[in-house]
Amino acid sequence: MVVGDIATGTDLLVIGAGPGGYVAAIRAAQKGIDTTLVEKDAYGGTCLNYGCIPSKALITGADLAHEAGNAEEMGIHADPVVDMSQLRDWKSGVVDQLTGGVEKLCKANGVNLVEGTARFKDENAVRIAHGGEGQGSETIEFEHCIIATGSRVIQIPGFDFGDEPVWSSRDALEADTVPERLVVVGGGYIGMELSTTFAKLGADVTVVEMLDDILPGYESDVARVVRKRAEDLGIDMHFGEGASGWRDEDDGIMVTTETEDGEENEYRADKVLVAVGRSPVTDTMDIESAGLEADDRGFLSVDDRRRTDVEHIYAVGDVVEDTPMLAHVASKEGIVAAEHIAGEPVAFDSQAVPAAVFTDPEIGTVGMTEADAEEAGFTPVVGQMPFRASGRALTTNHADGFVRVVADEESGFVLGAQIVGPEASELIAELAFAIEMGATLEDVASTIHTHPTLAEAVMEAAENALGQAIHTLNR
Ligand SMILES: Cc1cc2nc3c(=O)[nH]c(=O)nc-3n(C[C@H](O)[C@H](O)[C@H](O)COP(=O)(O)OP(=O)(O)OC[C@H]3O[C@@H](n4cnc5c(N)ncnc54)[C@H](O)[C@@H]3O)c2cc1C
Repeated sequence: MVVGDIATGTDLLVIGAGPGGYVAAIRAAQKGIDTTLVEKDAYGGTCLNYGCIPSKALITGADLAHEAGNAEEMGIHADPVVDMSQLRDWKSGVVDQLTGGVEKLCKANGVNLVEGTARFKDENAVRIAHGGEGQGSETIEFEHCIIATGSRVIQIPGFDFGDEPVWSSRDALEADTVPERLVVVGGGYIGMELSTTFAKLGADVTVVEMLDDILPGYESDVARVVRKRAEDLGIDMHFGEGASGWRDEDDGIMVTTETEDGEENEYRADKVLVAVGRSPVTDTMDIESAGLEADDRGFLSVDDRRRTDVEHIYAVGDVVEDTPMLAHVASKEGIVAAEHIAGEPVAFDSQAVPAAVFTDPEIGTVGMTEADAEEAGFTPVVGQMPFRASGRALTTNHADGFVRVVADEESGFVLGAQIVGPEASELIAELAFAIEMGATLEDVASTIHTHPTLAEAVMEAAENALGQAIHTLNR
C-alpha cells in the first residue's frame, strides 16, 4: 500500500534508535511526553547491530577457543575447532534478542515507532522517506527534536568498502570464515579489539598504524601491556606507515603502505580491515533547513543540556562534539536531553566518563591521568597494584597489567584511574563510582573487598597511594 504524504504531529521527535535515541525516547515517554522515534535501519543502532554487542560476542567466542587451546600448563589438553558460521549465528542471535527487546521496550513505554529516513523540512518538521519502492513519505511536525543519528566508518583513499577483500568493522563482524592472512589498518581500539580476536581465531594478523604506537589516547605503559600480549599472539605490528592501496595477486591481495619519507612496504593478505575511525552522520538530514550548522568535521555543538543553537532541537551521542563516541555517553546524553525537555533541572555534568577497551588484556579508564591532574593544577598522588601480586589474578592465569589510581594529594579525592588487566572493563566501574561520589583514597582503601577477587587490586592501589599497601612495596 502506498502510504502517501500525510502529516502528523508529535511533542518530541527522536531521530535514530541507537543507544542515544532509544534511551532518550523511552525516558521522554516515561515522563509523559508524546514521543515518536524514527529509525531508518535497525533498532539499537550501531552499538547493538554492528558495534559493541556483536564485537563483544565474537571476542567471547575467540577468547573461549583460545583459552581452551592454550591451557596445557593447567593440565588441560584440547584442540578446539571453531565453526565460524555457527559462532556468527550465535552472535546474531544475541543481537536479535537485544534489538527485539529495544523495540518491545519502546512500545511498552508508549513510544510511537516509525521506520524511515528523516530529513528536516524546517525547524519544526521532518519528512520521513519510508524504505522500499512505492512506500511513500510522510511529514512529522514536532515541538522538540533530538538528533541521535550516530556515526559511520571513515573510508580512506584506495580502500573502497564495496570491494570484497576490503572490510569495515561491520564486515569483519559478519565474517563466516576466518581469513588466513588479515591486514588491519589502524591500531585504535576497534582495530586492536578485532586484531586480537582474529589472531585468536587463527588468522595471521598484521597491523599497520600511522602513529608510533597502538591505542592513541591511552598512556604508553597501558598500551605497552596490550602490545606485548598482541605480539605474543603473533600479531605483527608496523608503525609510522599509512596504508596507501591494495591490488589483487594470484594468491590473495597485496596491501601497500607508505612511510612519511615515502618508503613503500607491502603485506600479503586475504582481507584488509580498515579501522581508522568514525565520523558523525549529520550530512544526510538537511540540517540547514532546521537552522543548524555542523562544524567542519560534521559534529554538532551543544550546551550542557544537549541543546543545539536551535533551542528546541537537541543532539546526543556520536554526533556531539567534544564527548567520546561511546554508547554509554550517548545514553546518558539522551536521558539528560529527554529530562530537560520534560522540564527537569538536569545537565550533563558527570564528573568522569569511563571507557573500556576489550583487547587482551582489557583496558578500563576513568577521569584523569597523572599528567592530566598536574595540568589541571592538582598535586597528584598515584598508587599502583600489579596484577601479578593479586592472588585472584594468578588463579585465573591472567596476571599481566595493573590498577593505577590517581588522587589529589591534599584532599585525597580520587581523580582518575587506569586499569589494564583481567576484567578491567568491570573493575573500572568502582572507580567511576568513587569519583562520582567524591570519594577519597581512604574511602576506597578502607572499603572491605571480598577475597580473593580482582577488585582487591583496586583497594590495594588506593592503599599504595597512601603508602599503606600490604601486598606491594609502597612507593
Ligand atoms: C566495532 C565497534 C565496536 C564498538 N564497541 C563499543 C564498546 O565496546 N563500548 C562503547 O561504549 N561503544 C562502542 N562502540 C561505539 C558505539 O557503537 C557508539 O558510540 C554508539 O552506538 C553511539 O550511539 P548513537 O545513538 O549516537 O548512534 P548509533 O548507535 O550510530 O545510532 C544511530 C542510529 O540513527 C539511525 N539514523 C541515522 N540517520 C538517520 C535518519 N536520517 N533517519 C532515521 N534514522 C537515522 C541509524 O540507522 C542508527 O541506527 C563501538 C562501535 C563499533 C563500530
